[in-house]
Amino acid sequence: MLDLASLTELLDQPRKIVITTHHKPDGDAMGSSLGLYNYLIQQGHHAKVIAPTDYPDFLSWMPGNEEVIIYTENTKLSATLIADAEIIFCLDFNSLSRINEMGVLVGESPAYKVMIDHHLEPEDFDDYRHWDINACAAAQLVYTFIVDQLQHKELINKDVATCLYTGIMTDSASFRLPNTTSTVHRIAADLIDAGANNSRIHELIYSSSSENRLRFLGHCLANCLEILPEYNTAIIAVSKKDIARFDVNTGDTEGIVNYALSIGSVHLAAFIVERSDRVKLSLRSKAEFPANEICKKYFQGGGHRNAAGGQSEDTLEATVTKFKQILSEYKTLLNY
Ligand code: 5GP
Ligand code: MN
Repeated sequence: MLDLASLTELLDQPRKIVITTHHKPDGDAMGSSLGLYNYLIQQGHHAKVIAPTDYPDFLSWMPGNEEVIIYTENTKLSATLIADAEIIFCLDFNSLSRINEMGVLVGESPAYKVMIDHHLEPEDFDDYRHWDINACAAAQLVYTFIVDQLQHKELINKDVATCLYTGIMTDSASFRLPNTTSTVHRIAADLIDAGANNSRIHELIYSSSSENRLRFLGHCLANCLEILPEYNTAIIAVSKKDIARFDVNTGDTEGIVNYALSIGSVHLAAFIVERSDRVKLSLRSKAEFPANEICKKYFQGGGHRNAAGGQSEDTLEATVTKFKQILSEYKTLLNY
């Protein structure tokens, strides 16, 4: 185990550092990783962000993005960097299975592992942990790591601020989820003061859809949405055929589940999509309903109470049927 003093001392010298985050990175995964990256390079560290897989175009504009290595496209280089690293930062995940095959490489690397995360039930693979399930985003924890723990507020420059603001904005669903506390707003204000252009960031993330993506959204809402009034639940199930028809790319499905949850009577929404190798589920809930419990118990996944995900090796139809059967177990909780 490393304490803060030893980690601070370690970071006093330029180090070989790898920053990694979860499979199919979202705004918080890339925002927290690139925020930390832009902080570390100011101190002469040799830092590299390695994403386990690709990520959407609407996240590909952040400062430092051109330096990101995608593991699946650069396995050899990634393996060398991980094996040679002195410190590996693990951001926005806490179980090595969330970084696919990279999990083995990270587990075997002699590097110190630093976990900065806000998910439940961390696995014990780290040497230093900055973990808080009440944080709205890993990017919020990167901010407190730099500012409160390392005492380097002056190194929150425009690039760091832009990335961290993006992580906080996306994971709090635009400052909307219950974990968007006054502290989160104060941090966001600090990041704006440090140079984050909040209006432009919002535009780059939320107003950069392709025409196909918008038409696909229309199709999902008009033709794939099913409401189950007895369970206050909405399901959007999308087949492989639909994905091909609308030429849906990585990230195009993100956020669609929130439209289903926007119906007043809906307390739980599921977006269930047939991918090439498996069926992926994205669950969102309101109030106290534990969406993560369903994902963990039945769909090899997890996440937060109000936003969770999982997968199934069954067909799309069988997955939808299974999901509906599971709902009967939660009928009372869903009828609050
Ligand atoms: P999304 O629906 O956007 O894929 O994921 C929502 C939340 O659930 C995210 O915080 C993500 O970290 C978590 N999540 C999604 N898929 C999985 C999974 O397969 N396993 C675990 N443990 N968490 C997941
Ligand atoms: Mn996150």
